[in-house]
Amino acid sequence: MSEIFYDLGIIGGGPAGYTAALHARKNGLSVVLFEKDKIGGVCLNRGCIPTKTILHSAELFSELSCADSLGITVESAKVDFSAVMARKDAVVEKLRKNLELTIKNAKIDVLNAEAHLKDRNHIEANGNVYECAKIIVSTGSQPRELPHIKFDHEFILSSDDILSLAELPQSILIIGSGAIGLEWARIFSALGSEVTVVEVGKNLLPIADIEVSKRVERIFKTKKIKFYTETSVDKIENDTVFLSNGETLCPERVLMSVGRVANDAEPIEGVEYLGDVSGGIQLAHCAIKQALRCVDGVAFDETLVPSVIYGTPEIAWVGAREQDLEAGTYEKSMILISALGKSHCDNCTDGFIKILTQNGLIVGAHIVSKEASSLIHQVLIAIQNKIPAKKLREVCFAHPTYSEGIFEALT
Ligand SMILES: Cc1cc2nc3c(=O)[nH]c(=O)nc-3n(C[C@H](O)[C@H](O)[C@H](O)COP(=O)(O)OP(=O)(O)OC[C@H]3O[C@@H](n4cnc5c(N)ncnc54)[C@H](O)[C@@H]3O)c2cc1C
Repeated sequence: MSEIFYDLGIIGGGPAGYTAALHARKNGLSVVLFEKDKIGGVCLNRGCIPTKTILHSAELFSELSCADSLGITVESAKVDFSAVMARKDAVVEKLRKNLELTIKNAKIDVLNAEAHLKDRNHIEANGNVYECAKIIVSTGSQPRELPHIKFDHEFILSSDDILSLAELPQSILIIGSGAIGLEWARIFSALGSEVTVVEVGKNLLPIADIEVSKRVERIFKTKKIKFYTETSVDKIENDTVFLSNGETLCPERVLMSVGRVANDAEPIEGVEYLGDVSGGIQLAHCAIKQALRCVDGVAFDETLVPSVIYGTPEIAWVGAREQDLEAGTYEKSMILISALGKSHCDNCTDGFIKILTQNGLIVGAHIVSKEASSLIHQVLIAIQNKIPAKKLREVCFAHPTYSEGIFEALT
């Protein structure tokens, strides 16, 4: 067993780990990064990137099916599911190769091995002990199971399993309507599968502002995505799903997306725990910011992390939800997306922009709209920098855009 010395040792090569590694190298530190699977972590290999790549194909197909109304005749649009999945694999591989090259060029030592934290200064991997002046653990999270329902990886699938489906299921039941469940519901629905969502909460997307949740339910009805709220799955037996309301359903597949659990990591004083493993917000941009705060000392307010749910229309929010504010202590301004010229040009009139203010300062924004993933940052910059709503109104927003909806919502 030999001893090897580094300024920084990092276990886990996802967004938190690779960001910390790259920035530490920029600061001149020697860095060793342990990754037992693939560089890029869940985000690049099993999360953000593959899902959004498949979603793009699904949305194109969905748009083509109503192309007639836009004056475009499409003879026969068909989904070639294996080609959709092959493109997803190609995008992931390309991005991973780019990342690996960036890491190599930065002269970070990468070990493709499972690493074990021994104490605040020692990591063991491949029979060697690595002494590190500082250690970061960024080992991520994994799909959660329910106490009475486990993944069998054939019928009951996790968000990992779904990425290696060989065929598009004709019907799928999704347990849970958080970000992952909703995104997959929209993907499968757009590809033509019959989708049913089962949510134990009072509304779909219970983590969102109540008006967003209600709008999502309306959108699902329009898209003929069947859903149950205040309903749980009692058991699954012989490919049959038994709901708490007495109904039984026989979908071709089940996706269980009921959250993610942080991977085991016994806290050791002096060791930094970043990203999903830290037990906080499980989003890639949060992991990245935590890494920048840790390595570069960049300020990061974890109460201002934007959430985005992709699909048509996009959903994005940041800051306070209306149900969290005391009545009479806030003002609400809202505009329907259909009031914006651009939404009619694009045939995307569904949604709204809602802004919550207190004492002239914006405290929350909730957007359901095409481009919501970009729009939310305009409001976030104002919130974070305490730019009064009045000042934001003075900005000249281009026409026709969705951005002018922010201006309109504030007038
Ligand atoms: C389907 C899905 C969609 C998502 N979409 C989005 C999205 O659109 N936007 C967003 O912000 N977030 C999204 N997320 C969440 C995002 O992927 C995670 O928040 C992010 O990947 C967390 O980064 P991380 O660095 O903490 O951990 P991870 O990305 O989980 O990386 C941890 C790495 O550590 C490695 N590892 C674990 N243990 C060891 C060990 N002992 N030794 C060596 N290596 C080890 C793992 O192999 C893994 O590569 C999505 C997640 C899923 C599942």
